[in-house]
Amino acid sequence: MTAPALPILPTSVVGSYAIPAWLWAAYEKIEAGGFGAMDLAETENDAVETAIRDQERAGVDLISDGEMRRQGFIVSIFKYFRGLRPLEPRRKVGVLSYDGHVFYEPVERISAPDGLGTLKELDYLRQATPRPFKITLPGPLTLATQITKGGPYRDRYEVAADLVPILNRELRALAAGGARNLQLDDVYQSFIMEPKRLVEFYDRCFEGVAVERRFWHICFGTLEGFGFGERTYRPLFPTISSVCADQFVFEFANREMAESGLWREFDCPKELGAGVLDLKNFYVESPELVARRIRRVLESVPAERLWINPDCGLARLPRHLAFAKLQALVAGTRQVRCELTGAPSTSNRPPSAAPGTSSDP
Ligand SMILES: [Zn+2]
Repeated sequence: MTAPALPILPTSVVGSYAIPAWLWAAYEKIEAGGFGAMDLAETENDAVETAIRDQERAGVDLISDGEMRRQGFIVSIFKYFRGLRPLEPRRKVGVLSYDGHVFYEPVERISAPDGLGTLKELDYLRQATPRPFKITLPGPLTLATQITKGGPYRDRYEVAADLVPILNRELRALAAGGARNLQLDDVYQSFIMEPKRLVEFYDRCFEGVAVERRFWHICFGTLEGFGFGERTYRPLFPTISSVCADQFVFEFANREMAESGLWREFDCPKELGAGVLDLKNFYVESPELVARRIRRVLESVPAERLWINPDCGLARLPRHLAFAKLQALVAGTRQVRCELTGAPSTSNRPPSAAPGTSSDP
């Protein structure tokens, strides 16, 4: 299918989409061994269809598959790695957070002989939507934060260095298979991530990967609303501008648009995917608020280099809230587009709600 041309201020997502109620219920049965391979494939495909249709109905220009094949189905991407031993979570009761994760200890050199599972995501997306889409992968340093030292590795940088060729091979395969938009996600943890090393790892992951757009989401963490470190991008500048990425996908809304002036201050040549939906906030932004946030970013970033997205993935929101926020994102963006192009704002009619969802509790 030929993807339609993108408008000015294209809207997109960071990656994950809200998990439908029925899928949460299915997880329990899947984890208990109650689904066969065909049941699982059917369920994953249905979940992807839900995520795609919701994004299309909301009017998002460049979508994702909602990362629906990754959430909860065993332990996401780690199931593809060999050479790791899972460790018991250090905390199992009470509030879910980062210390409740399964960590992994290397017992030998890490490998992924069968890849990381994203090629089937690409195959399905290509036939399931006419819209352009992105496929995301976690960055090597981010994956390494869930792996301890041990085996042949003295520290997490050595772990990350060995994950680079695995990610590079996956990204190359995606590009060869026709993916045009690829993204790495890194959780910004100032205590481990020096900007120079971050850039070096990103560049090595994308070595020889020919695509239309390389995205880089740098995240402050969103698990259950918790961040993971100081919420500032300033220490990354100006070093980060030398990376091979085409677009940075950054959080702004949950910081009331703080640091949206960094682009002008550092004359950053990259595109910006600006986060204008606060996902640590349980309310639906009005289109006017979204438009105000976009105007604020436009004071620093030229319109032709600005994309509009939520702060982060939507997997931690209930579906009715995720969908309503996406509607607001699209409506607010259309307002600003009309101001930029001088077109009448008649196309601002909000799209209808997703089936069975309403933002009213
Ligand atoms: Zn994020």
